[in-house]
Amino acid sequence: MKGNLEALLVMFGKTPKKPKQIAQPAQVIHLQKRTEKITKQQIEEIRQELRDVEAGKYSKKWRNRRWISIIVINLMFTLSFWIDIQLFEGSIIASRVLGFHMADLYSALQVVLAYKVMFINLIIGTVTVFIIWILLGGRAFCSWVCPYHLLADIAEKIHLKLAAKKWVTNHEFHRGVRPVFFIVFSILAFVLSYSLFNSINPVGMISRALIYGPGIAIVWLLFLFLFEIFYSRRAWCRYVCPMGLTYGLTGALSPLQITYNLSACQHETACHIVCEVPHVLECVKKGRAGNIEVDIGTDCTLCGACVDVCPTSSLRFEFKGLSHIS
Ligand code: SF4
Ligand code: SF4
Repeated sequence: MKGNLEALLVMFGKTPKKPKQIAQPAQVIHLQKRTEKITKQQIEEIRQELRDVEAGKYSKKWRNRRWISIIVINLMFTLSFWIDIQLFEGSIIASRVLGFHMADLYSALQVVLAYKVMFINLIIGTVTVFIIWILLGGRAFCSWVCPYHLLADIAEKIHLKLAAKKWVTNHEFHRGVRPVFFIVFSILAFVLSYSLFNSINPVGMISRALIYGPGIAIVWLLFLFLFEIFYSRRAWCRYVCPMGLTYGLTGALSPLQITYNLSACQHETACHIVCEVPHVLECVKKGRAGNIEVDIGTDCTLCGACVDVCPTSSLRFEFKGLSHIS
C-alpha cells in the first residue's frame, strides 16, 4: 500500500533506505541483474537517454494532460465569476462547485484554529474534499489542480536551463522542515487567532488573483518564483507547503497510485531526474525493490513525469483493484 508506515516516515523527512526484507521473486531478479552483462552499446544508449532527459527531450504526454487540467479547472472559477453563472463559486481554497461545498483541508484547519469555531459549511466542504482526494490519489491535487504547481513547473524549467549552463545552483534543505512548517503555522493560527498561512499561501493567492484580479499578492508570488529559479528548485512545494503534506496524508489509503515493476527496469534512474519528490522512487535503484511490484509512496503527486520518461514502462498509473491507466 502506498501509505505504509515507511512511506509516511519518508514523507515526513526520513531518508529512504533499502527494505529489510526482500521477497524471494525479487531476490531472483536482483541476482539476475547483478550477473547479466551489459554491452558498451547499451551503456552508451543509457547515457544518451539520460542526456536527453536532462535536456528535456522526452514525451510530455502526462505533463500536457495535467497542465490542461490545471488551466481548465482554474479558468472555470474565473469564468463563472466573470459571467456570473455561479457554477464554480469562490476560489480553489474554499468554494461551492455545482452546489457542493468544498474546502481545502489544511486551510480549513487554519480557520478552525484561528476562529475556534466549526462552521457547518466548512465541515461539509472538508469532508467532501477529503473523500474526493482519497479516491483521486491525495497529492494528485498538487499536479492536477493546484495553480501554484503550474507556476512552479515554469520556474523549475527555467532553473534547470540555467543550472545546465552552471549559472545557478540548487540549494537543498532537509525535507523534515515541511512538517515543522505544518506545526508552526497551526500553532500561530491558534495563538494569534489569525491565519498567517492563508495570507501567504500562494495557492489561494493565485486562485483569487485569477478571479478578482492581481493585487499586492503579486509581489510575494514574484519573490517565490524568483527564489525557485535562482536559489532552490521547487522550494515551496518541497519544503514548506502544509497543503501538500495534508493531501499526502489523505492519499495514503487511495487506490490511485503509481506502481513500479522491477522486471524490465534498467535502473538508469531517468525518473529521478524529472521527479519533484525523488525520495519516493528509491525502489528503482538497483537492488532496492523489496518486491517485483512496488507501490510508490504517498508523497508522490501523480504528475506522471516518471511514466512519460521511463523507456521500459516500469512505472505506471494504477487504480488498485481495477487496472493500469495509460
Ligand atoms: S505542495 Fe502546495 S503549492 Fe505545491 S502543488 Fe501541492 S498544494 Fe500546490
Ligand atoms: S513518482 Fe512519478 S508521478 Fe510521482 S511525483 Fe515522481 S515523477 Fe511524478
